[in-house]
Amino acid sequence: FQPNSPAARDVAYVLHPYTNARAHEENGPMIITKGDGVYVYDDGGKQYLEAMAGLWCASLGFNENRLVKAATKQLETLPYYHTFAHKAHLPGIDLAEKLINLAPVPMSKVFFAGSGSEANDTAMKLVWYYNNARGRHAKKKMISRIKGYHGVTIASASLTGTPVNHPGFDLPIAGVKHTSNPHYYRFGQSGESEVDFATRMAQDLETMILEEGPETVAAFIAEPIMGAGGVIVPPETYFEKIQAVLKKYDVLMIADEVICGFGRTGEFWGSQTVGIKPDILTCAKALSSSYLPISAVMISEDVYQPIADQSQDLGVLGHGYTYTAHPVCAAVALETLKIYEEDNILDHVRAVSPLFQERLHALSEHELVGETRGRGLMGALEIVADKGTRASYDPKVGAGAKAGAAATEHGLIVRAIGDSIAFTPPLIITESQINELFDKMTKALDDAAGAIHK
Ligand code: PLP
Repeated sequence: FQPNSPAARDVAYVLHPYTNARAHEENGPMIITKGDGVYVYDDGGKQYLEAMAGLWCASLGFNENRLVKAATKQLETLPYYHTFAHKAHLPGIDLAEKLINLAPVPMSKVFFAGSGSEANDTAMKLVWYYNNARGRHAKKKMISRIKGYHGVTIASASLTGTPVNHPGFDLPIAGVKHTSNPHYYRFGQSGESEVDFATRMAQDLETMILEEGPETVAAFIAEPIMGAGGVIVPPETYFEKIQAVLKKYDVLMIADEVICGFGRTGEFWGSQTVGIKPDILTCAKALSSSYLPISAVMISEDVYQPIADQSQDLGVLGHGYTYTAHPVCAAVALETLKIYEEDNILDHVRAVSPLFQERLHALSEHELVGETRGRGLMGALEIVADKGTRASYDPKVGAGAKAGAAATEHGLIVRAIGDSIAFTPPLIITESQINELFDKMTKALDDAAGAIHK
């Protein structure tokens, strides 16, 4: 690197998340300097179609000026205040009311945090507090799913079931269990229908609850459609059967809507797309189009009442962050929700997602692609070595990484998750940009096939 260049200084000073540190020392960063709609630009001026909306999050693209104005106005009025000890401010009140009105099932209260991880941590603590309030001191275990993604704090990383989040960190913590992954293409047995597979998944959950002891199991957490686990769309009847098991053993359902919330799957909430009726819902990312960090936890009245009693008994609810309901973040979130309404973002997603899904599924014709899957403006393809047997490439081949790198060459940013390639573009993407995305991805797959087979 040029001495003292941004790249050299990055390598010198920054420890990057989800990055191979030694490879980074060698190769340096890709420096993004500006955004415009669904595009971002690097420091050499090269344009990229951002087919991941950053980290599944910049729903309104990369230069929505109304959000800048909302932030500026709030910064000029009340740049910071908190909501501890009975204090309140208007952006926090307005945003909570708005979320309760938008919730997929009747919800009672909203707790704000700064990130998806904190929202899921909060959900877990509220579940424990709720069960303590009810005298159920043993009912504390949490069940999530293999390859579910719920964040990286100690509690939420424990809930997370993707391969890199536990080794090296002595995680998961005790009392967090991971049940089967509902990926039919990978784990469905020969001759087993999708519906039978869903039945088996629910049986696996029931077996786990019985083995652990139902009196020890407090809550189950799931993304409506798994994101970072590879965009896994649940098999038909899955959540219906899962929720029947939860109900039987008095286990709370937490919907992690951090990716799926706010229109991504073609309904306002992913819970509506897949038939979840949550007791607790967490959301973040597209809540503010990710322009400022904010997340929320919604709880039902049944969950709220014991929590309120417990906080009375203990003096206060002993949980909250300095940035809980940060007024500038809340103002930006409110403006984001206003834009979704005024611009009919859900109608837009519904109008363009048939083309998105059609172009995605057409990639299954490609020699490298074993499966394509998705809903709304969320999708993934999975690269296989053999379409007949569904065998994967040896991880040393780095098939997914090669396809991801080829996409970057073509001016397209995607996410390689092992050998799956994910796409969650900003929700404002147009049909011609969807065509551009998949034209570029087709070229990238051709290049990757060349590199793999050479
Ligand atoms: N839950 C889901 C479904 C996510 O995809 C993520 C992040 O990608 C999180 C939680 C964690 O959110 P954050 O990175 O804001 O902590």
